[in-house]
Amino acid sequence: MNIVKNAVVSMNYKVGTAAGEHVDASQPGEPLVFLCGHSQIINGLESALLGKKAGDKLAIDVAAKDAYGEVDDELDIKVNKSMFPKDAQKNLQEGFQFRAEHPTKEKTEVTFTIHGIEGDDVLVSGNHPLAGENLHFEVEILEVRAASSEELDHGHVHGAGGHHH
Ligand code: ZN
Repeated sequence: MNIVKNAVVSMNYKVGTAAGEHVDASQPGEPLVFLCGHSQIINGLESALLGKKAGDKLAIDVAAKDAYGEVDDELDIKVNKSMFPKDAQKNLQEGFQFRAEHPTKEKTEVTFTIHGIEGDDVLVSGNHPLAGENLHFEVEILEVRAASSEELDHGHVHGAGGHHH
């Protein structure tokens, strides 16, 4: 069958930036398995896969806006340590993540990561590490099947490469 919404797709993939920098890849013998149409992979990749079938080998370019989004300068900010709860202040370190509201977009929650601490200043970014990157995927589709009604109820794949429960 061809890839449509609610199909279960198994595929090998490799992804890099447009500049050729390696980002991620499936491991040999461990394909990525996902339920199509449920936001389990990035939009731009999923839409390029629609209509394709097992055996297809594809090279797909996905623009940043259809991958991890453009860089939002408003999300690279410096905040004072005192902005954090008292008991969190002494534990702040690089890599620490927290959710907070977007500085100017009301009711939009963003995951921020601490990128550095300089005295009382904490440098944080709410941009995904791959924001602003155009991505290049190489995909080999191994299997396409219809999801079971149970998988559709749960919104995820069962069995190999999926949930076991
Ligand atoms: Zn389940």
